[in-house]
Amino acid sequence: MTTPTRSTMRLILLLAVLLKMVTGSHQARAQTAAPQVKLSVHWEELTAADFREGIRRSQATCLLPFGILEKHGPHLPLGTDLLDVRYSALHGAEQEYAVVFPEYYFGQIAEAKHEPGTVAYSREMQLGGNDSLLPFFAQTQLDKPHDYVVYIFDERTPSSGGPAKKTKIDMHAGESETSNMMISRPDTVHLDRAANESGADQHRQDLPEGLYTGIWWYARFPNHYSGEGSAATKELGEYQMKWWIDSVVKAIRAVKADDASLKLQNEFYEKSKNPLDTQP
Ligand SMILES: [Zn+2]
Repeated sequence: MTTPTRSTMRLILLLAVLLKMVTGSHQARAQTAAPQVKLSVHWEELTAADFREGIRRSQATCLLPFGILEKHGPHLPLGTDLLDVRYSALHGAEQEYAVVFPEYYFGQIAEAKHEPGTVAYSREMQLGGNDSLLPFFAQTQLDKPHDYVVYIFDERTPSSGGPAKKTKIDMHAGESETSNMMISRPDTVHLDRAANESGADQHRQDLPEGLYTGIWWYARFPNHYSGEGSAATKELGEYQMKWWIDSVVKAIRAVKADDASLKLQNEFYEKSKNPLDTQP
């Protein structure tokens, strides 16, 4: 990957991506005492000179938030995932400086291609994607040497704490996601429409646990809606979005501090050239 100073990057895929370009990150760290002018975290808002400063200031850490375009029940916009993930990534990067890529909406969403407004790319076209594809993408990085490290970060919802939840099924456009959107983009939430369709599990497949088919989601939630958006509250959204942003900040800090991954990648590539010489 070519960067202004041509060294290594760190990329975090935050159901999203953090990319760390190691632009001589030691050098970058040594310079951080220089006076700081406010710099946008939006890649597209930086001038070329500002970008150079942004990469230095971020220790070459970039975030690529992924969010696909798909139906979100009857009451949330198609870009819910993208709007939410960008909200947390941008706020996180403002607290712990990182450069955030422009909007990216490519991913795996074949299971919603029967709904209007979904953008579902073919298998061949998918470059990144959702929680199944991103780890695969990261593993394919081991195919050949790179001067950057890809980190995937997929923590979006706290498992405990905060206001008590009212619903049990809450996988898509339900209580949690609707609450989050009441914080990130309240102007796009149509709470009055949330009960127009059912987000109940329709149990249309009868298979034992552990037996998987690609049609499982459609079998259970044919309206591309899982849960009850009408149960959403601003309080839950506030709690969850703050948790999400804090988690992004922690992830950026951990990536900046990580000097092991790139070394290990290089060691691995070196050993891969001659597997028979690899010693335990
Ligand atoms: Zn979503």
